[in-house]
Amino acid sequence: MLKVTEAPICEHCGKKMSQWETPQMPFAGSTTWHTEFLYICFNDECSYFVNGFDWMWNNYHRTASYRHMIDPGNGLASPIPVKSRQHLKEAIIEK
Ligand SMILES: [Zn+2]
Repeated sequence: MLKVTEAPICEHCGKKMSQWETPQMPFAGSTTWHTEFLYICFNDECSYFVNGFDWMWNNYHRTASYRHMIDPGNGLASPIPVKSRQHLKEAIIEK
């Protein structure tokens, strides 16, 4: 059962979040996801995503960031790491 059944609004930019197909491979520190998709904000203007690049560079000297993600299974939000603007976008289910 999913706790979140409709695309949530990103709390950082106010845009509707996208369904993103959960990879079968271990990813982002989690060995398994218990849902078939996650909700991720793919807005490239999202302050969370934009500020993440500065933060990662200042702290780790890495060109990377993270996007706002909500697990529809439990409704909890967490950051999901990305390497670039395009990273992860190929698995978007609906826009
Ligand atoms: Zn956003």
